[in-house]
Amino acid sequence: MIDFRIEPELQAKLDWMAAFVREQCEPMDLLFPGHGAPYDVANKESRAYMKPLQDQVKAQGLWGCHLDKELGGPGYGQLTLALMNEILGRSYWAPTVFGTAAPDTGNSEILAMFGTDEQKATYLQPLMDGTIVSCFSMTEPQAGADPKEFTCRAWREGDEWVIEGEKWFSSNARFAAFLIVMVVTNPENPPHGRMSMLIVPTHTPGVEFVRHSQTMGDSKGEDDGTHAYIRYNKVRVPLDAMLGGPGEGFKVAQARLGGGRVHHAMRTVGKCQRAIDMMLERAVSRRTQGKPLSEHQFVQGAIADSIIELEQFRLLVLKTAWIIDNEPHGAARTHIAMCKVQMAKVYHDIVQRAIQLHGSLGMTLELPLADMWMGLPAMALADGPTEVHKVQVAKAYLKNATPAPGLFPSEHIPTRLEAIRARG
Ligand SMILES: Cc1cc2nc3c(=O)[nH]c(=O)nc-3n(C[C@H](O)[C@H](O)[C@H](O)COP(=O)(O)OP(=O)(O)OC[C@H]3O[C@@H](n4cnc5c(N)ncnc54)[C@H](O)[C@@H]3O)c2cc1C
Repeated sequence: MIDFRIEPELQAKLDWMAAFVREQCEPMDLLFPGHGAPYDVANKESRAYMKPLQDQVKAQGLWGCHLDKELGGPGYGQLTLALMNEILGRSYWAPTVFGTAAPDTGNSEILAMFGTDEQKATYLQPLMDGTIVSCFSMTEPQAGADPKEFTCRAWREGDEWVIEGEKWFSSNARFAAFLIVMVVTNPENPPHGRMSMLIVPTHTPGVEFVRHSQTMGDSKGEDDGTHAYIRYNKVRVPLDAMLGGPGEGFKVAQARLGGGRVHHAMRTVGKCQRAIDMMLERAVSRRTQGKPLSEHQFVQGAIADSIIELEQFRLLVLKTAWIIDNEPHGAARTHIAMCKVQMAKVYHDIVQRAIQLHGSLGMTLELPLADMWMGLPAMALADGPTEVHKVQVAKAYLKNATPAPGLFPSEHIPTRLEAIRARG
């Protein structure tokens, strides 16, 4: 049975969220700008502003809405979360205000799934309370898309793990209380069993920040970026710092990356909708050639293409969320890859049209569109490049494909007609 209606009780929650994000979270984007700003737990001013907002979210039962009940959250499930994340995606402070910002979402999921009671008490609880932020330190300077190329390693010495190597683009490490680091611990194993996850408090001796790389759009000083290049200089952590078992690094990483990708896609639906809302307002506000932009067919075409592409993408995201909720673990893998590919493309096309419709104003920093534009490349890179996900989708379908039974394809009309006639 397929039913696209939303229960009135859920709709009321979504309406509350939409108004709250517009009236309370979007002002934070303007007052405390910068994509790293929501992670800066040391900024007393922004934290003081945010605290009463977080209390309101908690009072509504909407805090940490990504976590299932057995993992300590409200347990809305992915389909409901998709509708919520669409709203939160419109503001970059909103996910933090609602206790559901990446990478803390993924990190809290793997802590809940693989963590010991002690790890949960030390790291998961304060993460869920929103008092600290965390970092996922996986990509290396010489290898990103293919983790089999990673070389940062750890070995046992007495009752400690010793970590040696480099990591790159460890987002928000400068604000994080701890880093979850993917390291080679079992080089003798087959490739997918070589790595493990270690939890490293950020101030552990030997954790060296080479620099904090900036991405396009960051307009601050040389070392003010949020993507850390980290050197681990014989960093020592106790044996019980391992998250999951030795050699289970890939398994733990997969558990968080899948969810992270689909959550990004959910939020991207909201970002695209915001760009379309701006296009609609512009089209009925601006005049050229004696009539509003909205009466020009090129403009109508740009609006229609954007609405249709977003509707298709949104349905894909909702179906993916439904599969996660209703089918066995891992069944949504291919659909998550589809979402990852499509979110970069749809977001690009819609934001480009929105900028075009706003003319010179669209290119200024006086609208959110420029910020959206500069975030486009990240969509096709972070959590794995588009190409890797396309390959995954194609392989999933190719593995069930069978060669043509004879010289011609099975849909070859003359061959089929011959077979039908032969049946008599
Ligand atoms: C904004 C942002 C935040 C990030 N945050 C984090 C973080 O917090 N923690 C973390 O560990 N990492 C993070 N990353 C890193 C991210 O995971 C990597 O950028 C990504 O995995 C790609 O790795 P790479 O950049 O080394 O590119 P490479 O692996 O060098 O790939 C470069 C290009 O090669 C091509 N390519 C790669 N593989 C294939 C293939 N199989 N087939 C065809 N073409 C291919 C693609 O065009 C790809 O874009 C972040 C990245 C961005 C942009």
